Amino acid sequence: MMRFVIPLLAAMLCGAADWADVATPAPGPPQSIGFYTAGCLQGAQALPLEGPGYEAIRVSRNRYWGQPVTVDFIRTLSEKVRAAGQSHLYIGDIGQPRGGPAPSGHASHQIGLDADIWFERQPGARLAPAQRENPRLRSLVRGDDGGIDDTVFTQQHVVLLRTAAEMPNLDRMFVNKWIKQRICNTATGNRAWLRKLVPWYGHDEHFHVRLYCPPGNPQCQPQATYSDDDGCGEALDSWFRKAPITPPPAGTPVKPYRPKLPAACQQVLNAR
Ligand SMILES: [Zn+2]
Repeated sequence: MMRFVIPLLAAMLCGAADWADVATPAPGPPQSIGFYTAGCLQGAQALPLEGPGYEAIRVSRNRYWGQPVTVDFIRTLSEKVRAAGQSHLYIGDIGQPRGGPAPSGHASHQIGLDADIWFERQPGARLAPAQRENPRLRSLVRGDDGGIDDTVFTQQHVVLLRTAAEMPNLDRMFVNKWIKQRICNTATGNRAWLRKLVPWYGHDEHFHVRLYCPPGNPQCQPQATYSDDDGCGEALDSWFRKAPITPPPAGTPVKPYRPKLPAACQQVLNAR
């Protein structure tokens, strides 16, 4: 009996490395491999946990790793927003040290080119990283999903979204339908940036930036395009006809999202 049990235990202990268990990036030049929702990342860079105009939150999750282009994007956006007189940004998940599927929270964020930026802003001194695990993170949408919460939403959010939308590496951003609608109804001047705001479920407390595959990343799979216009017509209206998602009853086991990854990701996972 022990003859069988010991190798089995050894395999469970040594062979079952998972994306969330690996605490360091894979060596080598930065390469995004696969698609935003099914891939991995070699040569990830850590976002410094704070810098001019931003601070990372929930750092115990160890999901502050991304492509250098993503780290640069966040730092540049934060500096621009700070220069516009705004409070520092809260930066949430980018990706795991080697990308790949996370045990909870996201289907994407797998190739180092996605990042969550929260709408909440708090002026004043920063807390220490350990105190940034559970900050207040208010929604811009009313609790009854009946529209924008004007006690939280301000013009600063519009400036933030526009600044991000107009940065050159940005493919698209995901925001709640109510946020897109508000901006569709109020934006003046050049509205070309509205195209980059793509409605999606949730995304009322944070928005999600997705960058293009960087040059020199031949295994990075770009995403198909979206609206040619500002996306304020049928593309938005259809979101108001969707049935709301009903959450499963409490206690329903959540099956982890396990997409099929490109074969090259196995080497990224195992590289030392
Ligand atoms: Zn996200």
